[in-house]
Amino acid sequence: MAFADILGHERIVEVLRRSLRTGKIAHAYLYEGNSGCGRKKTALALIQALFCRALPDDACGVCPSCRKITAGNHGDIHIIEPLQDKRDISIEQLRAMQRELSLRPYEAPRKVCMIEPAERMSVNAANSLLKTLEEPPGNALIILLTENAGMLLPTIRSRCQLMRFSHLSPEHVRTLLEKTGIDPGTASLLAPMSGGSVQQALGLDNEALSARREVVLSALARLDINQIATVFDSSEELSGNRDETLELLDMMLSFFRDAVHLAAGSSEILNQNARPAIEAISRRRSLTRNLELLGNIHETRRAVQRNANSKLALDHLFMNIAVV
Ligand SMILES: [Zn+2]
Repeated sequence: MAFADILGHERIVEVLRRSLRTGKIAHAYLYEGNSGCGRKKTALALIQALFCRALPDDACGVCPSCRKITAGNHGDIHIIEPLQDKRDISIEQLRAMQRELSLRPYEAPRKVCMIEPAERMSVNAANSLLKTLEEPPGNALIILLTENAGMLLPTIRSRCQLMRFSHLSPEHVRTLLEKTGIDPGTASLLAPMSGGSVQQALGLDNEALSARREVVLSALARLDINQIATVFDSSEELSGNRDETLELLDMMLSFFRDAVHLAAGSSEILNQNARPAIEAISRRRSLTRNLELLGNIHETRRAVQRNANSKLALDHLFMNIAVV
């Protein structure tokens, strides 16, 4: 995993590469971000670069060390996660890791331990890790991955260098999905609904999503303020519980973002397979009006997230969209 393969976290990559060049890699990192956004890939890229025998600040991909890491069988990397059928990471797992770290590395310049998800360490395990962070054995490197750093002991947080990973953009998710061999049409369908996570995108049902996209697009095309029933019927048809409504709004955001891209002269859109319907949205209103609606959809999403009534929020939004 070369740093160039990491998408959407350019600033973090830049900081890490600089640390590699100047020999100022921290003893412990805390990578915070949603799962599937690239934290683990970045951690592996860092380790690979650190161990690489050919390059000072990246992975060459071909030296014996790089190859072992790619194959997942490097003896100096220890990954700790909850055991099968267990919710938490136990103190026994931490103790075993500490014994490993106290030994000399087999072949790498130092040993590395990655803990994921760090917030699932039991209280005893977390306290035990604290001791390791206070007196790191050898020059071991410890990388903690978490979705929420606030769930860790403050004493653990303060001993790690915190790096916050932002959500991936739908465009980045699409590119990453295509790299895993998913066809461009499906990748474009899944990406806007992924919440910025490749993992979440892979868990989506693309057939159901494709059918839903058709339903939503045709409901949007029908909206007409002179026939007010179209507004309330569509809102009735499409509203659901909070999560379903948020999904609907994510989908609508991707439509209007695409429509704005088209109007601005870009042909790069996410919903390639629904291009005629997106072109119709783009043609129906001015660019300014579509930008305004994009803002309205964002606002509605925030309101639903704060527990506004989904049906009422959609009534209001659809009314707005129905006014051309
Ligand atoms: Zn290498």
